[in-house]
Amino acid sequence: MKFRRPNTLGQLLVAASLLVFTSLHASDRNITDKELSDESNTTDWLAYGRTHSEQRYSPLTDINVDNVGKLKPDWYIDLPDKSDMVGTPLVVDGVMYYIGEMNRVRAFDARNGKKLWEYDPEVAKTIETGYQRKVFWKHSRGISTYGNKLFLATWDGRLIAINRKDGKEVWSVRTFAQTEPLNITGHPKAFDGKVFVGNGGTELGPTRGYVTAYDTETGKQLWRFYTAPGNPADGFEDEAQEMAAKTWKGKWWEHGGGGNAWHGWTYDKEFNQFIFGTGNGSPWNRKIRSPGGGDNLFLSSVVAVDAKTGKYKWHLQTAPGETWDYTSCMDIVLADLNIGGKNVKAALHAPKNGFFYVIDRSNGKVLSAEKFADVNWATKFDVKTQKHIIPESSYYPEGKANIYPSAFGAHTWHAMSYNPKLGLVYIPTNHLANTFKDEGKKTDTSFRAEKHKLGLGLSGWLLTKDPHETRGSLQAWDPVKNKRVWQVNQKNPWGAGTLTTAGNLVFQGLPNGKFNAYDARNGKILWEYDAGLGISAPPITYKLDGKQMISLLIGPGGALASNFGGSGELGFEGFGWKYGLHQRRLITFALDGKVVVPAQPAPEVAQPIFDKKFKIDDKKAGDGAGTYAVHLCVACHGGSGVAGVKAPDLRASPALLKGNEKMFESIVRGGALLENGMPKFPTLTDEELDSIRHYIRKQAHEGAKEGAGH
Ligand code: CA
Repeated sequence: MKFRRPNTLGQLLVAASLLVFTSLHASDRNITDKELSDESNTTDWLAYGRTHSEQRYSPLTDINVDNVGKLKPDWYIDLPDKSDMVGTPLVVDGVMYYIGEMNRVRAFDARNGKKLWEYDPEVAKTIETGYQRKVFWKHSRGISTYGNKLFLATWDGRLIAINRKDGKEVWSVRTFAQTEPLNITGHPKAFDGKVFVGNGGTELGPTRGYVTAYDTETGKQLWRFYTAPGNPADGFEDEAQEMAAKTWKGKWWEHGGGGNAWHGWTYDKEFNQFIFGTGNGSPWNRKIRSPGGGDNLFLSSVVAVDAKTGKYKWHLQTAPGETWDYTSCMDIVLADLNIGGKNVKAALHAPKNGFFYVIDRSNGKVLSAEKFADVNWATKFDVKTQKHIIPESSYYPEGKANIYPSAFGAHTWHAMSYNPKLGLVYIPTNHLANTFKDEGKKTDTSFRAEKHKLGLGLSGWLLTKDPHETRGSLQAWDPVKNKRVWQVNQKNPWGAGTLTTAGNLVFQGLPNGKFNAYDARNGKILWEYDAGLGISAPPITYKLDGKQMISLLIGPGGALASNFGGSGELGFEGFGWKYGLHQRRLITFALDGKVVVPAQPAPEVAQPIFDKKFKIDDKKAGDGAGTYAVHLCVACHGGSGVAGVKAPDLRASPALLKGNEKMFESIVRGGALLENGMPKFPTLTDEELDSIRHYIRKQAHEGAKEGAGH
C-alpha cells in the first residue's frame, strides 16, 4: 500500500486513523451459548450455521430484493489454497476466520481482508510420521468458537483449540489412532463448554463409528457415543448399544459396521440434547455386513443424546438396512413451526435418501416425510407406523439395481438454509442415480475390508442419470405443507450451500462459477456474479460500520468435484477448472462495492499427452486399473484417469512418461508432494507402480486419440 506524504494536519489525522484501522486485533471476548443462540446479532457470524439453530438465516435487510442488483465486490483476498474451498468462515468482532486446505486456519480483518495471523497444524508432517496412506479428505467445512478459543479438527484426527486472538495453540487431542483409516472434514461443534467431533472413513476399512465430546477448556474427553454396536462378547457400553445389536446379524463387528458421523450436528438447548446424523454401513453391502438382513442401528440415523452426558434419548433411522451409502450426515435445522394450529419444536432434515423429514424434536417422532427428489429405494414413509416402505428389490437380491437418489445423495453436505419469515427451506439438490452391483460377490461373506483400501462389498458401482432432465436444482420447500414451493433447474449437480435473509433473498454459488441471488419467495433470479471458478462453499453475511457484507470462498471441492466415481459428463471435469490453473479467493460483496477482482484464466480441460516411446502392456494396464481404484488414486485423480479439480490429470502429467520413472517413484512411494496432500504409499511394489503407469498411459493414449478429455 502506498501513502502520499501528509502535508496538512487533516491528512496526518487521516494517516493516524488508518494506522489504528490497520492494526486491528482479534478479540478475546468470551463467547457463550447465549451469544451463539442470539438470532438478532447481525455483526458477527459466530457458528457454522450462524447460530445454534443452524438456520443460516440473517435478519439483515440492508441488501434486499429491490437493491441486490447493486451488489459488487467490496474486497477480496487471493488465497494460497489449491483446492476444496468448502468451508463456512466465522466473523467475530470484525475479524474473519476460515479453514483451508490441509486444515490451515487464517484470520483477516473482516472490513478489508488484511491478514492478522495463520495457524498451521502441519498435517503433512503428521501424516508422514504416521506413514498413513491418507487420501482425499484434506479439506474442512468449518471451525467453531467458544469462550476465547477457536476449534479445528484435522484430516489425521486431531482436535485442536487455539486462541482466537493470536492463533496460538492451547491444547490438542487425538480423536482416533493415527493408524486408523479415518478422517475429519466436519467442523467441531462447540456448545455448553464442550466441543463435539465425529469422523468419516467408512469406505476405507473396517470401522466402527463414534462421536465424542471434549471439554473446551482442557480437551478432556467427556462422553462418547458409538454409532454401531461392538462385539457382544466384549459387553455393551450401554443399553442403547444392546438395543442396536438386536438389529444386526452375523459377525458384523468384524466389519466394524460403520455409521461414521462426518457432518450434520446441532445443539438443542431447549431440550438439553445434542442431535447428530450418522453415516452409512461398512461395507456398503448389507448382505456381507449383516447377512440375513436387519435395520442395523444406528446406521443412517438421526440420533439425539443428552447434551451433558451423551446418553441416548431417541433416534430416527432414515435408511433401514442401509445398503446405498445413504448417510444421514446432513444438516439438522431447528425451527419453530405452526402445524395444524399447534406450535411444534421441529428439527428439519433432508438427507441423501431424498426424503424431507419434519421431526418433533421433543420425542423424535416424524411429523411428515415427503420426497424432495426422485426416489425409488423406498415407496413412502408411513407416518402412522413411523416406517419407510421399502421394496425388497432395493436391496438388489438379484445382484443388480439402479437406485435413485445416487450415493452422492439428493442432498449432501451443501448447507440448506431456513427462512423463518417466509417459512421456506432452501435445498441444494442433486438429481442423479446409480447402479449397485454385487453379482459374483453376493454370497461372498468372506469379504474383508482392508485398512486404507477401498472396500464397498460390491462388484460394481456406477453413477447414472435419474428420470430427471436436469442434474441439479435449487428448491424452496415448505416444511408445514410438506411440499416444494418453487424450483430452479440447474444443468449440473453439486450446487453450493445457501444463505437466506430477511431481505427476502437466497444466495447460492454454483459449480460453473456463478454466484446468484434469488427472490426467496419465488426463485426469480435477481443478481448474478461470475467468479470465473467453480463454487462449493456457502456464503455468510454480517454488518460492520453500517455496511452489510456477503462473503464467500471461491473454488470447487468435495467428492463429485474430483470426479470420484467416474462421474463423467455428470460431474465436473468439463468445466475446465484444471488443477493449479485458477486462483482460490475469498470475495466480500457490498452494495456499490468498488474493488476490481482480477479475471481468472480461461477454463481449460487437461490435454492427455501421447507418449510414442511408451509401449503399453495391456495386461499391466488391466492390473493397474485395480491398483489405481483400490488405493484410492481415483479419489483425487478421477475415474478412468480423468481428473476433476482436486489433483492433476495424470494423463497430462510428465511424471508418467517414459524416462521419468524415478520422478514417479519419488512422488508415489517417497511422498515428494505430501505438502499438497498427495500421500505416500511406501508399500506399493515395483510391479504395482508400473501397472499404474501402464493404466494411465493407456487412458492417455485413448484420450489423446479422441482429441481431449471427455
Ligand atoms: Ca459414505
